[in-house]
Amino acid sequence: MKIAILPGDGIGPEIVAEAVKVLEVLRRDGLPVVTEVAPIGGAGYDAAKRPLPEATLRLAQAADAVLMGAVGGPRYDALPRELRPEQGILGIRKALGLFANLRPAILYPELAAASTLKPEVVAGLDLMIVRELTGDIYFGQPRGRRTNARGEEEGFDTMLYSVPEIERIARVGFETARARGRRLCSVDKANVLDTSILWRETVSRVAADYPDVALSHMYVDNAAMQLVRNPKQFDVIVTGNIFGDILSDEASMLAGSIGMLPSASLDASAKGLYEPIHGSAPDIAGQGKANPLATILSLAMMFRYTFRDGATAARIETAVRGVLRQGLRTADIALPGEPVVGTSRMGDAVVAALQQA
Ligand code: NAD
Repeated sequence: MKIAILPGDGIGPEIVAEAVKVLEVLRRDGLPVVTEVAPIGGAGYDAAKRPLPEATLRLAQAADAVLMGAVGGPRYDALPRELRPEQGILGIRKALGLFANLRPAILYPELAAASTLKPEVVAGLDLMIVRELTGDIYFGQPRGRRTNARGEEEGFDTMLYSVPEIERIARVGFETARARGRRLCSVDKANVLDTSILWRETVSRVAADYPDVALSHMYVDNAAMQLVRNPKQFDVIVTGNIFGDILSDEASMLAGSIGMLPSASLDASAKGLYEPIHGSAPDIAGQGKANPLATILSLAMMFRYTFRDGATAARIETAVRGVLRQGLRTADIALPGEPVVGTSRMGDAVVAALQQA
């Protein structure tokens, strides 16, 4: 289990350090975990004058999985676009061919009061959004700006999906549903868009290979509404890049704090990059306040999806749940007046819970 560790910037090194503590426990328990650390983002720029140093990319390519913290920070905001920290993430996603983004939205009952929605609507929420990451209107050609026949300036983009692109993300959706509640909702805009008509036809055809998974279809505008009306109706949602971008951010708010939400980006052979969905939080960096649980839960996803070790994934998730049940809260998930703990205290509590499990 070769894991490349890319802490990045801001709170990245602080939260990744806590996930590494978890890995140490697993290694002591006999898992063949090997780790190596490399800089990315602003840290990559500081070390090698580029956000994705050659050596970092080589390490990521040679690894079975990558654990990333977060990148970015005010120190790097004035750099030209190609040197900015985000280019490190975009570059590594592209180089590793990570086309499937998995984002769970889970609301532990202990944190139901932290959501902006009523507790009865979200308590116990556990849904997964599978978003296609390398196609759609973000990458389709042609795109650009031009002057039309009336002399007006126009901007244009192309929404585009090929059948193989839809098939491979649909399969990730079906496989994910198969490993969970066996219900897959494909989200599109087939009442308006030709791309979506092809999407719907293709997903329906792939469904024949997964008779044990119940497939439904939903228009994206309805899905946006249903996510806040009754989010617990969903098990797995599969959708294209732009719809997934918007719906996954909406779903993350259901769960209260972004400090709790992990993500996985996978290639065709389930090699993956695992990272919390939040950024580098420069406002609290270096203060030991950041919530490390999203990063620790990203590690759990790594065991489930890349190493196909659901037992270890569940063990990590149970430990996280245990510390929440004990009442430990970092500032982002505490209710007003509740006592809070810092980053390393939270990590240590997860380690202690793991050792008891
Ligand atoms: P952010 O996610 O870093 O922070 C938003 C708010 O959430 C802040 O108040 C922050 O303190 C809080 N927060 C985030 N993670 C937290 C955690 N683990 N525990 C407690 N509180 C947490 O988003 P932003 O402020 O818009 O961006 C800051 C920097 O991060 C920018 O440079 C941006 O480009 C970058 N960014 C990186 C990624 C990534 O690495 N994948 C994603 C988003 C933003």
